[in-house]
Amino acid sequence: MTHPDPVSAREAGATDPDGARVFIIEDDGDIRDLLCDTLRTYRFAPVAFATAEAALSELAADPPAAVILDLGLPDMDGMDAINRIRARGPVPILVLSARAHASDRIMGLEFGADDYVVKPFDPREIVARVRSLLRRASPAPAAGVRDAGDRVARFAGWRFEPESHRLLAPDGEESFLSTGEAAILTALLRAPKRVLSRDHLLEHGGRDDTLDRAIDVRISRIRKKLTRPDEPPLIRTVYGSGYMLTAQVTWSDG
Ligand code: CA
Repeated sequence: MTHPDPVSAREAGATDPDGARVFIIEDDGDIRDLLCDTLRTYRFAPVAFATAEAALSELAADPPAAVILDLGLPDMDGMDAINRIRARGPVPILVLSARAHASDRIMGLEFGADDYVVKPFDPREIVARVRSLLRRASPAPAAGVRDAGDRVARFAGWRFEPESHRLLAPDGEESFLSTGEAAILTALLRAPKRVLSRDHLLEHGGRDDTLDRAIDVRISRIRKKLTRPDEPPLIRTVYGSGYMLTAQVTWSDG
């Protein structure tokens, strides 16, 4: 699986960062400085933190456009940090890891990161990945919201808001999906009781490379969030064909 190189991402008309605030949570000062300098060069507004705790309090006060998170932080387990950031809102998370194993890559996505980069990395690749995350997180394509009547989906007692990626369970429990998960769930909710091929789901996510390699991981994460004891599964796998949402869906403006 390849990733767009920084130059082609730029030529493809990637969104101008326009001073977008990006949190860098990394305890290694050299890497932190390198990322800050590079992001600034590409007209982002980086805000650096050496600990997860410091970033989490600032995250609540003034949420950034994206978060770059080192998985090996001194004060908090990386997966715990992802969960705590995710619990506060739909901000895209790019994870940095020193470990190159494919299973770690999938694990990062399983825990709700939006993308994953292994150290050592070319900082320009980070720029390309952050741009891609911001593009997907921008309301129009990622949320799939077409008009005011399209803002909230209700199904089997659940409620999902594509713009904020917010999912409310019948018992009131709130969770936030990653950008990739939200794109897939929105596609399923747009076409309930129909089998959607993996190709259709990829198309909906903009044929994004990140989505491509992770579609099954993301379906399984959405399933976990959508599961309640004693209830039949809402997303069915149709072998050889794709996936289907089994519930009736109503879309409305609130
Ligand atoms: Ca570290």
